[in-house]
Amino acid sequence: MTLPELESYFEGAGKKRFRAAQVYDWLHKKLVTSYEEMQNLPASLRSRLQEEAPIGAPVIRALQISKLDGTRKYLFQFPDGACVESVWMQYHHGNTVCISSQVGCRMGCTFCASTLLGLDRNLSAGEMLSQIYAIERDTGERVSGVVVMGTGEPLDNYDSLVRFLRMISDEKGLNISERNLTVSTCGLVPGIRKLKEEKLMINLALSLHAPNDELRRKLMTVAKSYPLRELMDAMRDYYSLLHRRLTFEYSLIRGVNDTEAHAAELAALLKGMNCLVNLIPVNPVAETGYRPAGVPDAQRFKKKLENHGIHVTIRREMGRDIDGACGQLRKRDADSRR
Ligand code: SAH
Repeated sequence: MTLPELESYFEGAGKKRFRAAQVYDWLHKKLVTSYEEMQNLPASLRSRLQEEAPIGAPVIRALQISKLDGTRKYLFQFPDGACVESVWMQYHHGNTVCISSQVGCRMGCTFCASTLLGLDRNLSAGEMLSQIYAIERDTGERVSGVVVMGTGEPLDNYDSLVRFLRMISDEKGLNISERNLTVSTCGLVPGIRKLKEEKLMINLALSLHAPNDELRRKLMTVAKSYPLRELMDAMRDYYSLLHRRLTFEYSLIRGVNDTEAHAAELAALLKGMNCLVNLIPVNPVAETGYRPAGVPDAQRFKKKLENHGIHVTIRREMGRDIDGACGQLRKRDADSRR
């Protein structure tokens, strides 16, 4: 619940309204996971709350730490048994958490592990927040940025996503600046159009992966519903309203989308847009058989885009040795340890 919702909950239940702010502070700032710890609440209220509104924080079922870069991948379990993965990454400018927005995914991108077993259910805003809270508790360090790039399609869980974005940036909560929040989508056009109207100063990333419809449809089921023309129009409109630089993610798959001709086509598609292209040599997923573009090909691809005046980065992959990199997060059972 947001603070106003919590206030009406307290009022409605014959409790004192000012208790809402105390509880909110314990939950969203001090990050406690039980009413027992809320020392300024009377014991009677604590036990009543415990019965009426149990907190349901996730437990850490597994934790893998990368030997390459210290990246930490968590497997969390919620009270109903559902499990999701989240990743904590340390950069020189601060710590970033990559959270999941759904248990599984129904988008069907051919290169991605997250979608292999389909969608179980959406996560609530609280479950998205709690991944970050649990990681702050575990590491003892502040999180300064969040990317919604774990398992799931955030715009397929729209209301919870927006509620999450507002609560994580709430100054009475963790107060992470909207500018340090990134939402990545496979390209649900109605969702992009709706999100724009929320007027959030977040970063929007689009998983593009192909410069034309024919190839994109082969790689991503979603491209069958939304042709690039509509998608790029939605992205341009998003930019015109909010003036936040757009990011386009492009996984380089050897022999599939990584030639100089593809780069030229991509440059034409993005012509005139204020954007960053994030190239990601595709990460291995056992089931897909795709191989990453080689380093020279990735460099050539980058150069070609740069020659057209486009900003490009090749993503520094983190946590690859623990299957924590893009597209490697997947639905797991609580007792699977890898
Ligand atoms: N559903 C959202 C959020 C997932 S973000 C989206 O599609 O954007 C995860 C990012 O990793 C997406 O850009 C996705 O396309 C990319 N990705 C998926 N599988 C990958 C793989 N095997 N290697 C590299 N990137 C991958």
